Amino acid sequence: MTSLCAGIKRDGGRCAVVVGASQTYCYAHDPARQGERKRNASRAGKSRGNGEIAALKEQLRKLADDVLEGRVDRSSAAVVNQIINTRARLLEVERRIKETEELEERLEALEGVLKGRQAR
Ligand SMILES: [Zn+2]
Repeated sequence: MTSLCAGIKRDGGRCAVVVGASQTYCYAHDPARQGERKRNASRAGKSRGNGEIAALKEQLRKLADDVLEGRVDRSSAAVVNQIINTRARLLEVERRIKETEELEERLEALEGVLKGRQAR
């Protein structure tokens, strides 16, 4: 026996997700899972850079294997290694820019709160 989720969508309409008889809400609307959803969302946001770093590490590992087994000559390997290094540096720059932007946003929010207090 199944029924529809009791949740309300962002546009105000009834959620159309079918849930089991023991459930009232689908995953996206279950109030008990709100914390879990938030954690997953923030983890997804952070994992993008980690995914790129993991890809670079994998490339380096493969490059090392290829050199050791003679599939890639040393001079090509050296150039590929430089490119990987450059990409790693870019990722670091990108991370720092993002971090600075996040800090600026938080500062602006704080300044807004302080101005609101002074106005009173
Ligand atoms: Zn729902």
